[in-house]
Amino acid sequence: MTGSPAPWVTLTYIVTAMLFIISIKRLRTPGSALQGIRLAVVGMAIAVVVTLQQAGFDNWLLIFPPMVVGGVIGTVAARRVRMTAMPQMVAVFNGMGAGAAALIAADEFRRLNAAGSVPRIDAITILLSCMIGAIGFAGSMVAFGKLQELITGKPLTYPGQKLINAGLLATILVLGAIIVINQGGIGLFLAFAIGALILGPLFVLPIGGADMPVVISLLNSFTGVAAAITGFVLDNQVLVVSGALVGASGTVLTQLMSRAMNRSLVNILFGAFGGGPAKGAAGASAEMAGDVRSATVEDVVALLELARLVVVVPGYGLAVARAQHDVKRLADQLEARGIEVKYAIHPVAGRMPGHMNVLLAEANVPYSQLYDMDAINDEFGRADVAVVIGANDVVNPAARNNPGSPIHGMPILNVDEAANVVVLKRSMNPGFAGIENELFYNPKTVMLFGDAQKSVSDLVTELKEAS
Ligand code: NDP
Repeated sequence: MTGSPAPWVTLTYIVTAMLFIISIKRLRTPGSALQGIRLAVVGMAIAVVVTLQQAGFDNWLLIFPPMVVGGVIGTVAARRVRMTAMPQMVAVFNGMGAGAAALIAADEFRRLNAAGSVPRIDAITILLSCMIGAIGFAGSMVAFGKLQELITGKPLTYPGQKLINAGLLATILVLGAIIVINQGGIGLFLAFAIGALILGPLFVLPIGGADMPVVISLLNSFTGVAAAITGFVLDNQVLVVSGALVGASGTVLTQLMSRAMNRSLVNILFGAFGGGPAKGAAGASAEMAGDVRSATVEDVVALLELARLVVVVPGYGLAVARAQHDVKRLADQLEARGIEVKYAIHPVAGRMPGHMNVLLAEANVPYSQLYDMDAINDEFGRADVAVVIGANDVVNPAARNNPGSPIHGMPILNVDEAANVVVLKRSMNPGFAGIENELFYNPKTVMLFGDAQKSVSDLVTELKEAS
């Protein structure tokens, strides 16, 4: 523990906390998000500089080189990462934060233990920080491995799994209680930390790879909580506040994602969902009867040319194909012909919150053309063409019509209310939920098969030639 900070330090920390809070508010909309990030960077820079100013920091050789190396690695990785690989990058960054919190707690334990005894209240905060940080670190690494396909993305389950996990958690808690009662014990502490490091992967392995973004958000909130508790360990108020903000926003985000998928967090954590395609399962119903109509680029251009309102519905396939720039070119072409273009954004389209907003912003699509699900759903009825680009689950009417479907109850974009629907995807393969989509069999729908980037680019060329 470092003792109470000077009043000016506390004042600066309050300013920093305010910057973080305003930053989170700014992050709510794409238009102000960049400003929000800048505010957070300024806040973090102030927090780091002020903290380093305090007494007790003298080993600059151990502090600065890792900061520079970490900063360079982080910057290069963030600049190079593909949008589709963003969830695993967040997993790694999150894991690092959680691991740092656990290591700081472990070092504080070592220091107090070496001094004779660890006061009980300190032991409790240290153990909590270490346990949550170790689970967050090891769990995030497994999440990264799954998303990066270094290990199987399917849920890994075995008989008695929940019992084993519960047993391990109970053992860790008992070890922690003994450490608190004994006011120390480095051997027991090591066993405690190793137990938490094992529990992290065991907690994440049974979860399907595609559910990882939700789990990463949950692990992110763990990291926030671990950091906040570490703030108590170190008597550092800004760490308490920033950790609490991360913990709270991670929890809210986890809840929002679960709700938008119409699944409970318990179902995501323990339901072994997303283990692979479940064709023919509950989602495939008798309503799937009918023909799939395949269209050519010329057919689609003929439809678009006659339209007054076109609603573009992007999904995960847009990110895979990296078609956002071509989509913007297509919209420009349509607008040049006086056709109104709107983009319908489903809250869980893609593989992370805001995935579509970020992609379309990258292609300079005006924010004013992006419509949230609630704002656009009533407009499909007056749309002449809905162009679904690499989206599947978020436009699957089974969510409304088929009580047996795994996605039943999930709010969807009412694409089937448009006069015509064009779906751009490579095959009839299902999306994340692994279920068939009756929209593709709707008489209003035509399929333009192929990679979305190529298909959209061909549409742009054909539209130009037709003008
Ligand atoms: P889906 O995963 O349902 O479907 C994506 C579709 O894109 C596939 O059917 C695939 O079909 C197609 N596709 C893939 N690559 C290409 C390509 N290169 N060109 C053209 N098409 C392509 O995506 P949605 O966005 O509709 O739904 C997101 C799903 O992810 C939801 O189920 C959601 O619950 C889940 N999820 C979302 C999270 C989030 O935060 N956004 C987090 C976790 C899960 P084909 O292979 O035939 O081309």
